[in-house]
Amino acid sequence: MTVPDPALVVLIGASGSGKSTWAAARYRAAEIVSSDALRGIVGSGPHDLDASVDAFALLEQIVSARVRRGLATVVDTLGTDVARRRAWRELARTARLPAVAVVFDVDSAESRRRNRLRDVPVPTPALDAQLRRMRDVPAELADEGWDVVVRAESGVQVEPAHSPGSVAAPAGPPPGLVLQISRFPWGEDPAGWLRGIAAAAAEAGFEGLALMDHLIQIPQVGRAWEPIPEPWVTLGLLAGLTSGMRLGTLVTPVTFRAPGITAKAAATLDVLSGGQAFCGIGAGWWAREHAAFGLAFPPARERLGQLESAIATLRALWAPGTKPAAGLPETTCYPRPVSQIPIIVGGSGERTLRIAAAHADACNVASDLETVERAVRTVQGRIAVTVLDVPVVGRDREHTAALVERLRGRTPAAAYARRHHAGTTEQHLGRYRLLAQHGVGTIFVALPDLAGPDDVLRLAPVAAGFASLAG
Ligand code: GDP
Ligand code: MG
Repeated sequence: MTVPDPALVVLIGASGSGKSTWAAARYRAAEIVSSDALRGIVGSGPHDLDASVDAFALLEQIVSARVRRGLATVVDTLGTDVARRRAWRELARTARLPAVAVVFDVDSAESRRRNRLRDVPVPTPALDAQLRRMRDVPAELADEGWDVVVRAESGVQVEPAHSPGSVAAPAGPPPGLVLQISRFPWGEDPAGWLRGIAAAAAEAGFEGLALMDHLIQIPQVGRAWEPIPEPWVTLGLLAGLTSGMRLGTLVTPVTFRAPGITAKAAATLDVLSGGQAFCGIGAGWWAREHAAFGLAFPPARERLGQLESAIATLRALWAPGTKPAAGLPETTCYPRPVSQIPIIVGGSGERTLRIAAAHADACNVASDLETVERAVRTVQGRIAVTVLDVPVVGRDREHTAALVERLRGRTPAAAYARRHHAGTTEQHLGRYRLLAQHGVGTIFVALPDLAGPDDVLRLAPVAAGFASLAG
């Protein structure tokens, strides 16, 4: 078992269970905040119970100051006060420090024996009460949301968290507009084309870049023989081309890769991009690409089950510390992400939305108001609602009509214009304003006619307008 470092480490055990000994063997003296030691400072000695109130006031102040600075902090008290424990756990969450509970479960006879050997033994009734109290602790901890719970006797090792630098990106989907690149008319210079698109997106004020994950280009976007690159490889290139742009999939189907492999890819992307990764994930929908690549495509019910368990695997492999979790015997997966990679579940089915609300950080749905309102109602503020919008952007009415005519294929012009919200930048901004009023803070924008950087730059006024709504 490993305990990540730095972390907030809360020791829990009766007197004489070996807490202080355990801490001293693993941490520097300045990292250990001990109620006994503080009683010795503000009172006559470590056992001066009259000094407890003052000692704990100091303890809370020291723990809070250290944790807010992201310093390793070991809280050496009995650890059985639930309210204090919850407050420490919350403090760690705010500071983005892993929160670790270490349980000292020494049997009663051994505790009494060790207690008798001490200079100042704890009165037997008090020790018995503490030992009884310890029986409830495992169940309480399970509810408190600790990142790691370990038993001291399991041979715990303190291990660097492998998170270089500070946490870069906030949890949650990137606020603002994110360009979803769905078509790749890159000619003879794929990397050069991507560089141009990425630079234009940054210049136009996009917060990030998203890639679809398909094995064959989907009919909604293009022809089967047009290129559709593997997204994690491509995101790796984009991580090297951009800085400060959020990068991720929208969305990766759980049917393509074992979830642990997706966890590995996203964590690697997060580390290489300085904490800019997000992970859009979905149940998959296109039977043909599965068949063509020899992948199983079980019924929707089963795929949604896979989605739910995949999210649990992602969370387990991204969490600090190694332990059995999500049905895995261990969660040894380094590098750990440097940010809290947001999980965005794509799809607007009832069960998909419920899975998202229970386990993800956001759900991504189509941008029509009816769908958005339904998603907002279903997730009830528990997670963010993001949208994918596929606008046809014209310079003016005339140009817009010409674009629709060129793009619509066999779809009637009016129907195509409605579905793609064909209009000018001002008209799109108006729609985005409406979405913002419904609580949508992230809009993934895919251009159905994306050919080069100029198409992206045309959206600069929309990005600026949307950013000013949020600001
Ligand atoms: P605390 O009250 O939980 O902080 O316990 P201490 O760390 O002060 O340990 C109480 C007594 O148990 C001390 O005399 C320690 O030397 C002894 N002790 C601590 N850990 C162990 C251990 O793993 N094995 C044995 N046999 N004794 C221990
Ligand atoms: Mg002690």
